[in-house]
Amino acid sequence: MHGPPGRARCSSARRLEGDPAAPAEPGQTQLSYPGVTLCPMSDTATVTTPPGSDAPARRRPALSPSRASDFKQCPLLYRFRAVDRLPEVPTRAQLRGTLVHAVLERLFALPAAERVAPRAKELLAPTWTELSSDSPEWTELFADGEPGETDKWLASAEKLLDSYFELEDPRRLEPEACELHVEIELGSGVLLRGYIDRVDVAPTGEIRVVDYKTGAAPREIGEAKALFQMKFYALVLWRLRGVVPRQLKLMYLTDGQSLAYTPDEAELVRFERTLEAIWQAILKAGKTGDFRPNKGRLCSWCDHQAHCPEFGGTPPEYPGWPEPDPGEETVLDRAD
Ligand code: SF4
Repeated sequence: MHGPPGRARCSSARRLEGDPAAPAEPGQTQLSYPGVTLCPMSDTATVTTPPGSDAPARRRPALSPSRASDFKQCPLLYRFRAVDRLPEVPTRAQLRGTLVHAVLERLFALPAAERVAPRAKELLAPTWTELSSDSPEWTELFADGEPGETDKWLASAEKLLDSYFELEDPRRLEPEACELHVEIELGSGVLLRGYIDRVDVAPTGEIRVVDYKTGAAPREIGEAKALFQMKFYALVLWRLRGVVPRQLKLMYLTDGQSLAYTPDEAELVRFERTLEAIWQAILKAGKTGDFRPNKGRLCSWCDHQAHCPEFGGTPPEYPGWPEPDPGEETVLDRAD
């Protein structure tokens, strides 16, 4: 995401007392997470479907956690991003987040013994070369800078990796999937779609959803939005697999802290209704083009003030409800 989300604290969140994937202390039994599928960087669009069902063959308008959050924050922001698709210039912090996410994904594709900090740092430069060759416009962010700015920026990414290794030892984990693309249609017809940074599954079948937070915004600003995103993924996995994830874990790599939440079924049922209501509101606004601005402190991070009436701007002419897929997330959305 380009800006930080809402400030409200997560009153419904509960910290877990036990971490099912935490490294065991000496003398304790180590829980492991046998590897099932590691998604290579070149093929992150792994669609997960309920057992016995057919994979969705068509793309149609869907709701992603990023776009749902946009609409909650400001319907006009949703319109600018999902309907008008106005361009946004990524910040260096966003690109660094994208890079670190990609490096962590590659790290878990290595044999467990190689998942150490120096190896992860070695992956930074070649991964950036690959990402920036796919999106050459990203290198323009460094074009006018002082010599060595890219190196300094890469060094700042190393700090995020150091933070990551202080939080967990990836040699002791075998994720089921990284950058997992999930998609499911709710009973109401709402199509949910998103990418999960990492899914760990314990031998007992307990599921842990992991999300790396690499943004520059203070953690307390992003926490409500992060919880919304994690509940979204918990709901999708529950509906896909019939199991409520045991833990939703947020790893804040800028300040080296992590938070874990335990969702429950009743909470996810309520959340499902919330998503359905958001989608109905989006469809209603989409018919008429009546996406209203909602001015707030997050406007400071909005790229679209020049088009926003709250800041003296005029939105472009409404282009109509797009087909297909106004819910698609971008790689930058996935690196907030
Ligand atoms: S500047 Fe604020 S009110 Fe205007 S579109 Fe952006 S987030 Fe919405």
